[in-house]
Amino acid sequence: MTVYEGVIGLEVHAELMTASKMFCGCPVVDSTSAEPNTAVCPVCLGMPGVLPVLNQRAVELGLRVGLALNCEIPLFNQFARKSYFYPDLPKGYQISQYAYPLAINGWLEIDLPDGSVRRVRIRRAHLEEDTGKLTHADGYSLVDLNRAGVPLLEIVTEADLRSAEEAEVYARKLRAILQYLGVNSGDMSKGVLRIEPNISVRPVGSDELRTRTEVKNLNSIRSLARATAYEIERQIAIYESGGEVQQATLGWDEARQVTVVQRVKESADDYRYFPEPDLPVLEISREWVEQVRAGLPELPDAKRERFMRELGLNRYDASLLVADRAVADYYEAALAAGGDPKQVANYLTGEVFRQMNLEGRDRDDIGALRLTPRALAALVRLVQDGVIHHGVAKKLLVRLYEEGGDPAALVEAEGLAQVSDEGAIGAVVEQVLADHPDEVARYLAGEEKLLQFLMGVAMRALRGQGDPAVVRRLLAERLAARRP
Ligand code: ADP
Ligand code: MG
Ligand code: ZN
Repeated sequence: MTVYEGVIGLEVHAELMTASKMFCGCPVVDSTSAEPNTAVCPVCLGMPGVLPVLNQRAVELGLRVGLALNCEIPLFNQFARKSYFYPDLPKGYQISQYAYPLAINGWLEIDLPDGSVRRVRIRRAHLEEDTGKLTHADGYSLVDLNRAGVPLLEIVTEADLRSAEEAEVYARKLRAILQYLGVNSGDMSKGVLRIEPNISVRPVGSDELRTRTEVKNLNSIRSLARATAYEIERQIAIYESGGEVQQATLGWDEARQVTVVQRVKESADDYRYFPEPDLPVLEISREWVEQVRAGLPELPDAKRERFMRELGLNRYDASLLVADRAVADYYEAALAAGGDPKQVANYLTGEVFRQMNLEGRDRDDIGALRLTPRALAALVRLVQDGVIHHGVAKKLLVRLYEEGGDPAALVEAEGLAQVSDEGAIGAVVEQVLADHPDEVARYLAGEEKLLQFLMGVAMRALRGQGDPAVVRRLLAERLAARRP
């Protein structure tokens, strides 16, 4: 049997959060809510006789990303025309970069669940302008050009990812970096961040590059992971049955959770790239590069190192906490509310993530949970102060996740506080021993594992609220007292 692996490269389009568009003074507006075709002018409408003027801020935001991704920044940049005909592209060409992009040869390291670290090579990051938006209706299409000309950065990896999980970890980390840099909100559902995997498979151990497919219109990182996993399985099944994968552009059907063919590629696209004659060559001074580098904020890797160094977290847990900007913010808010760093990290990466997965909620959405960082911190403190024990806390967490509320008040109202009163526990222990004479006799005859059984019975009798340390000690004492 052949064992296959995925071969995946990601193309990411990130809108840059500038006030105005790439080549004109039109404002950048929310294309999901603004009145269509209100943020447009002759330049972004592609009227004849107008000239583009480059937005310096867009270049600066692109530089931030290039530097954060460990790229080289070549001295000279040149814009190029990418020609194709489509109704969302008023000029008939898109201004992009081709032979001389903004940033090249970078890398990003990702942490995998087995504790290993993989370095993903970034081939390039180049500037371009976004296109308009089409809404297809029954028999006609609507064109909104508010988005036409919005600055965009395209970030392309080498095909270094090997599974859906790796693609997911990379995408999360890249999104977090864009968010930390303040260049993109990371909101895939609004289309300001678009992540497209190129996927092929091959037998493990080979280094061939087989025919690939490309998946578009993924509106969350969960969808990216699902679509990639689906596509890997689909291609493996084709090879296993003796078939050939066809090169194609696919869409992801969210409702059915399958990929569907949008366009089969018979030949390479011919965009007839040539240098943009309306824009001068752009020289990026080394002083500017160093100035931008010096102004970079704390990025996920640095934050992870800080969490490990200052809070004593292990590398993988720390990497999970910094992998989404929203999760890192949530975690830091819980610490600010007085939560113990390690315990909060455990509950967050364990129980809270588990609940979010069950609900199909993306981690990026953690800020909207009913369970607030303050409540999580309070819950952890209740465990540490010995008021409730871990088993009760886990149940309470599910309840807080679903309904919100204050942990201490819930413990009070439901009488969930841990019983550590020796009199009360002692009485229960005596009762358990009286009810199980056979087990007691066998324990005293040397079957030590029965202690665990009696412990379980006693804990159940205490409705899970007995302090386990006290229960165990009293049980041992009372049993010892019965030895002949
Ligand atoms: P295109 O010009 O069609 O966009 P590129 O060569 O620029 O193609 O590659 C686009 C993305 O596809 C890159 O991330 C690259 O790593 C990835 N890629 C290229 N070939 C393969 C392959 N055989 N399998 C998986 N990914 C691939
Ligand atoms: Mg491409
Ligand atoms: Zn304009």
